[in-house]
Amino acid sequence: MKQFQFDYKNEENLFRTLKRIRQWCESTIVSGVVFQIYTETLNKSKIKSICSMIESEIPDSLYMGASTNGNIIMGDKSKDSISIICTVYEYPSTHIKLFQFPLSEETAQSVTDSLIKYIRENPWVKSIKTFTTMRGMSMTDYCNYLAELPRNIAFCGGGAFSEDMNENDAFVFSSEGTISDHATVFLLTGGEDYHVMTAHVTGWKPLGRHLAVTKAKGPVLYELDGKPAYETYYRYLNIKNDENFFTNTLEFPFIYELNGMDILRAPIASNPDGSITMTADIAENVQARISYGDPWTILESVYNTAISFQDFIPQTFTVFSCAARRTFWGDDEVGNETKPFQSIAPTSGFYTSGEFLRQGRYVNQHNVTLVVEAEREGDIEGKEIPQVDMDTEEFSGKVSMINRLATFIQASTEELEEANRQLGKAAITDGLTRLFNRTEIQRRISDISGKNEGMGALGRVRAGSSLIMIDIDNFKHVNDTYGHNEGDIVLQKLSDMLKRVIADMAPGSSIGRWGGEEFMILLPGCDIEKAENVAEAFRINFATIEFPNAPSQTISLGVTEMIVGELADISCMRADDALYEAKKTGKNKSVIH
Ligand code: GH3
Ligand code: MG
Ligand code: MG
Repeated sequence: MKQFQFDYKNEENLFRTLKRIRQWCESTIVSGVVFQIYTETLNKSKIKSICSMIESEIPDSLYMGASTNGNIIMGDKSKDSISIICTVYEYPSTHIKLFQFPLSEETAQSVTDSLIKYIRENPWVKSIKTFTTMRGMSMTDYCNYLAELPRNIAFCGGGAFSEDMNENDAFVFSSEGTISDHATVFLLTGGEDYHVMTAHVTGWKPLGRHLAVTKAKGPVLYELDGKPAYETYYRYLNIKNDENFFTNTLEFPFIYELNGMDILRAPIASNPDGSITMTADIAENVQARISYGDPWTILESVYNTAISFQDFIPQTFTVFSCAARRTFWGDDEVGNETKPFQSIAPTSGFYTSGEFLRQGRYVNQHNVTLVVEAEREGDIEGKEIPQVDMDTEEFSGKVSMINRLATFIQASTEELEEANRQLGKAAITDGLTRLFNRTEIQRRISDISGKNEGMGALGRVRAGSSLIMIDIDNFKHVNDTYGHNEGDIVLQKLSDMLKRVIADMAPGSSIGRWGGEEFMILLPGCDIEKAENVAEAFRINFATIEFPNAPSQTISLGVTEMIVGELADISCMRADDALYEAKKTGKNKSVIH
């Protein structure tokens, strides 16, 4: 394959360039010609005239384009507002096919269905490159539908944008459709001699503790750890809710894991209710962290990714880089992250409103990310492996101070999070038996009881929950005769047996140590018959357990079903009464109240 990359200067200049391309094409075998047109301006009439000139000068070619937040040409940010990339595929086996579909939340499913149908019927397809508008729709469902693409299909692309990030207009267009602000364009490429490789670079690293996304809807992040999301930025980073909010938070976007991948979302604006509008959907119930970007760490990631492409021997790179990265670096320096790719193969692309990449089965929509696609026709045999040309002095050897401090914060946070986990566990666990302690089992019983009340107000509870209370018979005798140690062993063996029987018969139940040699088991959703069976299983099993010195022991049990609407203490008292009766009437038995 061969690529011509040029900026649009004027009609005359475009005409001459197209003529040269046509002459070149006529001199060789050509299996397909595709133009990518990137435009920072939203001047539709100019775009139309460019498209017509391509149609008339190179009639068999395809073209696809998008409005952008800046164009990347020859590995650097273009200084012009319209850039044109012409890729010529030279192997007869290479196929290309272009689609344009109207895209909205309503059509997302039918769009992906049509795409998947075509691909199933055309096994030559290896790769899909997409330009898409994203405004006014959630991309989450769309990405989920795209995960149904056959496993071997690579997928990457970028969201259309505009020069002014606050501008709502953005469009895509192609030789298969008109200029549209609600559409997606797919370029399908494949054939036996065509090869593709994709990767993504972030460079932003997680910082500090996990924050639970407790409330989010679409791109609006309402609450973290149950508190207004904005408070996090103010509390941890002292970022104020003013006109600099976007620029200040850009260095610290959120990072969270989705489909096994790190996804970044940058805050765009903070709202009066304390919520934050993000660059795209953020999933509810995930654990997010603030991340930080520093130039050295980012360049190091770029370098490592560029190196990973060397053995593929790419002939071209297409890059989709987030507009936020352009803002982060500034126009003079942003090229530093794309030039290393250019040192291997011609690199072009654009600054996007979102970056798409298939990783494993999933298609993820990223932000603040650089998605890279490498293409090649033919095999690599006999070809020389290119070497990334990049000044690594800046980031190798010395590690930046920011990076060191971030590592320090990260390591300390991880230690604290682990210590917190252990403390949290210790606070609810009984030391000797490793069962829940009294406080925790009581809390759980009250919780269920509260739920029962709530459901009671709505109607009947589906199935009741039950309690089993246990007390070891004549336990004092074990202590007095065989020693306290032997007594402890009896308690532990009983506890292990309770866990085994529960795992087998009533998973989801909670076992607690109620006091010395008394235990309480909460069986949510178990009616009295079921609870009685479990209690009898405890009793029969315990009698068979052997101890180092003491002979086999027995237990007495009280069983009761919790009644809708009653207080937890009342249910517990009934279990206690039942147990008392079991003791009074001979021990080694279960009594139901
Ligand atoms: P009953 O059949 O009426 O329940 O008789 P009992 O001997 O079990 O009566 P009681 O409840 O009065 O005795 C409980 C004994 O359990 C008293 C106490 O020494 C012992 N105990 C309580 N906690 C522990 C413990 O952690 N380890 C050991 N080894 N013994 C304990
Ligand atoms: Mg006892
Ligand atoms: Mg007792």
